[in-house]
Amino acid sequence: MPQPRKIPSSLKTDPVKVNELLVGLPDITVLGGIRHPDDAVELHIQTNAAVDGCISCGSVATLKGWRVVALVDLPTFGSPVSLHWHKRRWRCPEATCPVGSWTEVDERIAGSRLKLTDRAGRWATFEVGKNGRTVNEVAAVLGCDWHTVNDTVLAFGEALIDHPDRFGAVSALGLDEHLFVKTGQRRIQHFVTALVDVKRGQLLDLVPDRKSEEPKRWIKQRGEEWCAGVHSGTLDLSATYRSVFDEALPHVRLVADKFHVVRHMTTKLDECRRRVQNETLGHRGRKNDPLFRVRRRLSMAAERLDNEGRDKMLGILRAGDPQGDVQAAWWAKEAVRELYEVDDSSLAGRFIDELITDMADRDWPVEVRSMGRTLARWREPIIAWHDLRISNGPTESMNNLAKRIKRVGFGFRSFRNYRIRTLLYAGKPDWSLLPTLRVAG
Ligand SMILES: [Zn+2]
Repeated sequence: MPQPRKIPSSLKTDPVKVNELLVGLPDITVLGGIRHPDDAVELHIQTNAAVDGCISCGSVATLKGWRVVALVDLPTFGSPVSLHWHKRRWRCPEATCPVGSWTEVDERIAGSRLKLTDRAGRWATFEVGKNGRTVNEVAAVLGCDWHTVNDTVLAFGEALIDHPDRFGAVSALGLDEHLFVKTGQRRIQHFVTALVDVKRGQLLDLVPDRKSEEPKRWIKQRGEEWCAGVHSGTLDLSATYRSVFDEALPHVRLVADKFHVVRHMTTKLDECRRRVQNETLGHRGRKNDPLFRVRRRLSMAAERLDNEGRDKMLGILRAGDPQGDVQAAWWAKEAVRELYEVDDSSLAGRFIDELITDMADRDWPVEVRSMGRTLARWREPIIAWHDLRISNGPTESMNNLAKRIKRVGFGFRSFRNYRIRTLLYAGKPDWSLLPTLRVAG
């Protein structure tokens, strides 16, 4: 017959001590517990702090009564737990003392305004913030509502995000916009601006809208020393962000993001294709129209087309592009791409100047002349890429992360929610700080 193993002497066998051990909270006594038919556990506790002193006069307080506060705690053995904390109500015995009475506080159990226990709050913050789980999912595990979890994630999350050590000096700052939410019946678009350390690939912050005021204010708030440490700035071809740098960081060398420059040229080429389509056939592109059939090949990088593909494209163009406008725009787009093959910035400078002069010729279609004017306006930031080789790539990938968070959250209505959730996920907070953070409440 197998015998039960001998119980090690270090094991707690006193039922009260075992309860305290299972509950795992500091300095508490378990008063009792119930398991409800729906499997939820209700656990009643009190602290062992049977004495308190008045914070004003130091007199030993007298017990006035009890107040029971129900808190959502971590699940135990797969069941949601509500922790009923029997809090002592204290009174100062000194008649002249202004303090009167108070309720006991122990932040190791829970902050006084949060509905989650301290440890459940930190766990929820980690699950939502680091692991990207939804608030609904975490609320279901804890057996509580969305707001209870969300309020807690915001409280701990904001403390992590706004921790002064989350980021230090930044040498290359990137600005980029992305769509935050569409609201109302007319689906009005609301944008946010992302500020990114493009060297380290860290999302620094998000500010509302894509105007210049908020990013400028954010940059000024960093202080003079921080601003002086920024040497370069990347941006899409946006006049607004250019003015942010010009006004808030005038010493910074601007780099026009390569991806955005090429994409701009591809957009102009597409505009040209649609215009010629309309002028020659009088309608928008249909499946068998030559210019419609060729649209993908046009936007591809030329070197990705083999000889056959290239011949086919030029053949179709001869049929659908009698004036040669689309072909000219294609040539211009490819010329800008070639500009990025040039090794050094002085060569790139000569190359871009030739393009600017050439594209200004009145014989070119309007789209090509427009491309030339863009090159002229952004000449320096385009050439700067050849010296600094930085791009908004990290900004773009940050934005993709932000979009992922947005999908998980089914579209955020509140900018504060969105900022905290996105920065917890992509802003590289120091998660090792989470156990020690103190939050208001
Ligand atoms: Zn007192």
